[in-house]
Amino acid sequence: MTVIRWLVLGLSCLFLLSGCSFTNGSTAGKTLTVAVEPTFPPFEFQSASGELQGFDIDLMNAIAQSADFQVKYQNMPFAGMIPALQTQTVDAAVAAMTITAERAKIISFSRPYFKSGLAIATRTDNQNITNFDSLKNKIIGVQIGTTGALKAKNLPGSEIRTFNDSPLTLQALINGNVDAVLNDQVVILYGIKSGNLKRLKVVSSLLTEEFYGIPTPKGSPNLNLINQGLATVLKNGTYAQIYQKWFGIQPPQLPEKSPIENQIPEKGVSELFISLNIILKSLPVLLGGALVTLELTALSVLLGIVGGSLIGIVRLSPALPLRFCAGAADCSRKLSLV
Ligand code: GLN
Repeated sequence: MTVIRWLVLGLSCLFLLSGCSFTNGSTAGKTLTVAVEPTFPPFEFQSASGELQGFDIDLMNAIAQSADFQVKYQNMPFAGMIPALQTQTVDAAVAAMTITAERAKIISFSRPYFKSGLAIATRTDNQNITNFDSLKNKIIGVQIGTTGALKAKNLPGSEIRTFNDSPLTLQALINGNVDAVLNDQVVILYGIKSGNLKRLKVVSSLLTEEFYGIPTPKGSPNLNLINQGLATVLKNGTYAQIYQKWFGIQPPQLPEKSPIENQIPEKGVSELFISLNIILKSLPVLLGGALVTLELTALSVLLGIVGGSLIGIVRLSPALPLRFCAGAADCSRKLSLV
């Protein structure tokens, strides 16, 4: 008997272990569809031969390699990425996307992978735009759906012109169609340095401190995989190598969590809290209702017993009219029950 017991136990352990190794191995060879807008150098852009390249691309490829998954890039406009993530048309995006509280309500971000910020770009001959306040009453160019577009809303009296992508926005500035552009500082500086943005300059210091994250749909099982890969490349020096390749300097220290994430309560926790709060608030009314139901039930049982017994007694009476009346009452009672 004991032998059989040990045999069953052993087999169960083997089964469990094989199950575990199957689960671990199930991510291998998995392909993630990753949205990209290759018009944001040095993060994502296309070489003359059409090859996808940039800091984000190198980083995503390194993450995929260390977390053992494949990447299939899908081109789409930046403004279309969040809807595509929400409908799970794509599994993730690499788009120099800033982790913001608003976005984090509808999609999930990986840990921060790049420290960034907004800056003002203007033409080299413009002397009167020197800081954010001097943008009042000016014509500002922004890319649709970006943090730059959001920041521009705080400027009273300015005319905001929106463009589909960053190169179009900066081209409008070069052409004199807008007075200034609000964009990620690194992108403006890279454009100026590489000679693509002639006669432009960056004004003053950073307007914001932002962190980029890799977004996934809410509740995506791939987020863990991406975070694991990111943690590995940050630790084993691959991240620093990629950073050095694109920016020529050592990367700054990155926080494990974006500062804005501390302001967002975990969705599950907040929903549970809200539900409990509603239940607690309604508890007195619900208990009052339950008490009335109990009272009514007790009353109907009592009336049923008393009424039924009375009719029963009268139906046994020797007087025919009384028996007839009790019968009729009983009939109507039964009919009303039907
Ligand atoms: N970092 C900015 C944002 O998230 C711009 C990103 C982009 O245009 N690709 O809004």
